[in-house]
Parts: sequence; structure tokens; C-alpha cells
Amino acid sequence: MKKILAIHTGGTISMSQNSRGEVVPNAKNPIAQEATILEGRVQLITDELFNLPSPHMTPTQMLQVKQRIVKAEAAGIDGVVITHGTDTLEETAYFLDLTLPSKIPVVVTGAMRSSNEIGSDGVHNFRSAIQVAAADESQGKGVLVVMNDEIHTARYVTKTHTTNVATFRTPTFGPIGLVVKDRPTYFQQLIHQGVCDLDHVVDHVYLLKAFAGMDGTLFDALNNDQTAGLVVEGLGVGNLPPQTLPAVQRLLDRHIPIVLVSRFYNGVAEDIYDYQGGGIELRKMGLMLCQGLNGQKARIKLLVGLSAGLPQDALQEFLKTAVS
Ligand code: ASP
Repeated sequence: MKKILAIHTGGTISMSQNSRGEVVPNAKNPIAQEATILEGRVQLITDELFNLPSPHMTPTQMLQVKQRIVKAEAAGIDGVVITHGTDTLEETAYFLDLTLPSKIPVVVTGAMRSSNEIGSDGVHNFRSAIQVAAADESQGKGVLVVMNDEIHTARYVTKTHTTNVATFRTPTFGPIGLVVKDRPTYFQQLIHQGVCDLDHVVDHVYLLKAFAGMDGTLFDALNNDQTAGLVVEGLGVGNLPPQTLPAVQRLLDRHIPIVLVSRFYNGVAEDIYDYQGGGIELRKMGLMLCQGLNGQKARIKLLVGLSAGLPQDALQEFLKTAVS
């Protein structure tokens, strides 16, 4: 029988609704009480690592989750399920994807409806995630996100709706598999990616979103000794308003790495336009284009590359594409 470790970190899957209709955390995590789920089919080991709403998660805690998984793998666990708040689930999942040298399946899940709401999706998602983590076919696929009967890659999945249970989507590429009545089925393969095995994380890596008429004010606010890196969600395929350029240049002059992605969650950023503030000029200035990742994931990737101490060239190579 497969041994599966469930690491609980909190989120709506661990919360419940009170008589006023407010969703609140519980002192006793309800999803952690589901220890007998799939009894006789898997051996479930439970670790209540945190009980946090996911807006309280930080890269330091993501690193603690990673370290817990490494320890469990060394101890002979066959697969891991992490329950997590959905708001930052994709960031933790992608952090793990970039940093875990694991061969065993690692699956992240959550819920959109808390534990006592009608139609609560928590137990169902948890059960599906355990089934995926226990399946031989789930090995070597990177970190997976299982929600609403779909299997997504941590690399491309994103939360697309504030409340709908079908919120997790992989916009450009689609899910890589489905959970059909207890059975995980895959129909896409991921391209291999290298991992950075970290033991610490850097701070002060920021994310800005471009908008029509943007000027340099927000960029200048980051022009200080602490700023370690910046991701910019550019307009369209990766362009910026010309009024931002002097402030962007001031950050580059300080050797602050700047990554450019698109503010749209479909498609990839490319240096196509040759006008002031167009992607071609931005690349020539030294911005690094990152293809296929949204802003929050590109920020995690930059943070991981900087935490690993990658030199400039290696960092550029690491960031250039989401399919290295
Ligand atoms: N809405 C969130 C969730 O679904 C709350 C959180 O992310 O902790 O879990």
C-alpha cells in the first residue's frame, strides 16, 4: 500500500462558515481530521504544518514545506499532498516545482467552499489529490495541482475566478490530466525543467503591473539598496509606456534584474514591437523576457534564481523560458 504524506497549511479547505456567513479559520483543522479517507487503499500520514490563510504564506514558509517534503522522501514516503489556501496556491506550487529534486508525486490542492458549506469541494479535492499522489503515472511530472477533477501543472496553472469551484485553469496549454471517477488519466507530457535546490530565500523581489499612462513613480519607489529584483507585467505581448523608461533605466543602472512578462494570462511575452517602450527596446535595455509565466510565477522564478545565487548569465538563461 502506498504511503502518502498530507501536509496541511490552511486556507478555505481548513475553514468553516459561521452563523453570520463569514468564513473563518478553525482551531482544529477539519481537513486534517479526514485521516481515514481512502482507508485500505493508501496509508495516510498527517502533518499539520501550518493553519494559515494563504495571503499569510511567505517564501520562507514555502521553503519550510519544501524541506518537509525532502525529509519525508528520504524517509521513504511514496507521495505528498499539500492542502493550501487557493489565493496563493499557484505560487507555493510553483516554488516547490522549481526547488524540489523529488521523484515522488507532489500534489497541491485546496477548496473554494469551506468545510461546512453546502457543496463544499474540500474533501472531494483532497481525496482526488491523494489518488493522484498514489498513482504510478504521476511520477516525474513536476508538482501538480488537483482541483475540481482536473490535474494541472504547477508551472502554468492559475486561479481565474474569485469564488467558482472551477477557478483553477491552465489558460494557454490546458490541464495535463483528469481524475475520472477515482482514476487519474494523463494526456499531456511536460518538457523537462532543471531545479534549484535552495536552503534560504531572498526578500525584496517585487511585482508591478503596467497600465495606460503609467509613469516612473512606482519604479522610482524601488530604486534603493534593498530591492533584489523586479518583475513587470507589461502591456500586450510585453511593452511599456514610454514615460516609465527613464525610471526603468535607473533600476537597471543599479544592476537590479528586471523580468518582463505580459499582464495577460494567455499567450507568451515576446520582443516583437519596435517603438519607444516596445519589447525590442526593453530587451535591448536589459529587461529579461520570461515566456509563458504570469507575473506572480515569474516573481517566484526570479526569487528562486536569486536565492540560488545564479550569476547574471545563468539567471538570464533560467528566466528566459518556462520550459528550460
Ligand atoms: N480564498 C482562499 C482559499 O480559497 C483563502 C486562502 O487563500 O487562504 O483558500
